[in-house]
Amino acid sequence: MPVTLNTSDPDFEARFADMLSAKREDSADVNDAVAAIVRDVRQRGDAALCELTSRFDRLDLTPGRLRFSPDEIAAQIAHVSSQDRAALTLAADRIRAYHARQMPEDASWTDPQGATLGWRWSAVSAAGLYVPGGQAAYPSSVLMNAIPARVAGVERLVICVPTPGGHVNPLVLLAAQLSGVTEIYRIGGAQAIAAMAYGTRTIAPVDKITGPGNAYVAAAKRQVFGKVGIDMIAGPSEVLVIAEGDQHPDWLALDLLAQAEHDADAQSILITTDPALGHAVAGAVDRILPGLPRARIAGASWRDYGTIIIARDLDEAAVLSNRIAPEHLELCVDDPEALAAKCVHAGAIFLGPHTPEAVGDYVSGPNHVLPTARSARFSSGLSVLDFLKRTTMARLTPGALNAVGHAAMRLAAAEGLQAHGESIRARLEHLNERPPA
Ligand code: NAD
Repeated sequence: MPVTLNTSDPDFEARFADMLSAKREDSADVNDAVAAIVRDVRQRGDAALCELTSRFDRLDLTPGRLRFSPDEIAAQIAHVSSQDRAALTLAADRIRAYHARQMPEDASWTDPQGATLGWRWSAVSAAGLYVPGGQAAYPSSVLMNAIPARVAGVERLVICVPTPGGHVNPLVLLAAQLSGVTEIYRIGGAQAIAAMAYGTRTIAPVDKITGPGNAYVAAAKRQVFGKVGIDMIAGPSEVLVIAEGDQHPDWLALDLLAQAEHDADAQSILITTDPALGHAVAGAVDRILPGLPRARIAGASWRDYGTIIIARDLDEAAVLSNRIAPEHLELCVDDPEALAAKCVHAGAIFLGPHTPEAVGDYVSGPNHVLPTARSARFSSGLSVLDFLKRTTMARLTPGALNAVGHAAMRLAAAEGLQAHGESIRARLEHLNERPPA
């Protein structure tokens, strides 16, 4: 049974705080193992990659077989049914169209002193996309990582995907092809992250690593950060559904279970203004859950982290939602736009009863790589911006340097940086001997 809380109960604040602070991932114990793997890959390169892949993925490789050959990719893709290809193509087209609109503009202007100022966006040169593959395959994650990178203009894209026991999911390779990625390595875990960050004889290093993964992948991304950029540490998934009384309990129950089946550490929360609806949804979950193939995982998540909260009204629901800052927020209410305006901390918002969160995992267009564990308070989902850098630009005319240079010299003196001040003074003296035309 999930926890049921009522905001009018005297102990609500304490129980809500307990829910917010419940720890849903424990990666501290994997840090040492990951540090040893990263060190090994840095020291022994391809040899370490082959050994670690044999140990963790039960796959014997030589350095020459780390990368998928074009013939293998073509042979695997030939297995994909036309229906699966059509679905993946539709998803890719919609994700591309959405992300194309995220491309930011360069800026340039001349201020009253005559300084031409602005900024310019440019893509990272090489990005490494981690595609999880230990227990399940994620073609959708290939699209969600590779397409924004392509839209940003990244020249070299690398995919690392583990293939346990040599098992390859052809849809992953097709998704890579649809995104224009041909450099694909069959390695996973911390060793793949280390190889992309530091490089080996076979794999040239990249500048930024993105993509989800298990605790080993997450710990490795933390450890290589600084040598390369990373997108974020995306933890176990979560959904918050806010619903009013006239919603269909089965639909809401399925949305909660869709999140719970990801991971035993996933969290599904319902906030409703109607206690009868809360009761009906709990009953629907109990009825539907045993029939799911992943009932064991979904059941553990719902039992340990599932929560139903009865709120006084939608304003109170919005306040609670902002405190939770969920990864996914579903608004199954009569006026979802009005409620969305009040919900300012969420990774992605799904408005109205015909926008189930699962549609966002695949085909609605926005990215499904989103901030978890309340980090939506300060961060956003993966986007084109993650693959771009902003370089500032400034060009001063002699008149502009005359206008602002003295202030800079004063500040340089105040900071005790003599060469700074002199570099400006030398120019100003030269200008004032021979004033600009
Ligand atoms: P994975 O590819 O992340 O991990 C598999 C690798 O883990 C193996 O190749 C191996 O190298 C390493 N590993 C396993 N056991 C190890 C050990 N004892 N010591 C050292 N390394 C070890 O695949 P996974 O395990 O299936 O995990 C995928 C994760 O990604 C799940 O938690 C899933 O929920 C998450 N995910 C998140 C999103 C998202 O967008 N947030 C999308 C898809 C998947």
